[in-house]
Amino acid sequence: MPADIKYKRILLKLSGEALLGEADYGVDPKVLNRLAREIIEVQRAGVQVGVVIGGGNIFRGEGLAATGMDRVTGDHMGMLATVMNALAMQDALEKLGSSVRVMSAIKINQVCEDYIRRRAVRHLEKGRIAIFAAGTGNPFFTTDSAAALRAIEVGAGLLLKATKVDGVYSADPKKDQNATRYERLSYEEVIQRNLQVMDTSAIALCRDHRMPLRIYDMSRGGDLMRIMRGEQVGTLVDS
Ligand code: UDP
Repeated sequence: MPADIKYKRILLKLSGEALLGEADYGVDPKVLNRLAREIIEVQRAGVQVGVVIGGGNIFRGEGLAATGMDRVTGDHMGMLATVMNALAMQDALEKLGSSVRVMSAIKINQVCEDYIRRRAVRHLEKGRIAIFAAGTGNPFFTTDSAAALRAIEVGAGLLLKATKVDGVYSADPKKDQNATRYERLSYEEVIQRNLQVMDTSAIALCRDHRMPLRIYDMSRGGDLMRIMRGEQVGTLVDS
């Protein structure tokens, strides 16, 4: 691993909406390709990369429940949506020559592997990109919580949340011109000020297990690599 690379293993959380790009629904191949290239860039620099993908571009249990559907059924659909996104990302990464494994928290092993922690760590050690699908496998959770959980389980040095803004702000920068970006926050500050970083259970999990979290803008090319070099990009949440 080059000396300027600060992380041995990371967990990257991509929301389902991130994959939407210009598309009306599903995934935008251009966005998928660009994200895949960024992931491969850091992986080729020697970083072991785990990825958790959301499903919000297809289904969310909460939204389905609002239309009258049983919430657990809606969450199952949401988790299956994350599997579709994971397969799309696997395809994009493989087309670019990378070695990838999708591992699902719910058994669907004719299309991908089951999530088994030891096997996941082995994939990472062998330099394969591991995509963790189906969230935590349980309803009433989110893929943010799944990302925190997997980051802790596989011993990542950093959890990254790729978003559409370049960090966490004191107010919505689109609505308030005095909004300032935080360079660093504690877990408690995020929870107490109710800052929209990740859901509270994900932040609490990070806090309890001292998992540092960085929020950054995924649309700015090269930022993932800059973070790997230790540059101060976006907002860091830690103790
Ligand atoms: N989901 C779930 N349990 C999990 C993770 C996800 O039930 O552990 C369901 C839930 O319905 C959620 C949907 O899958 O709304 C898609 O995940 P999420 O909303 O986190 O996706 P994102 O917002 O990141 O695209």
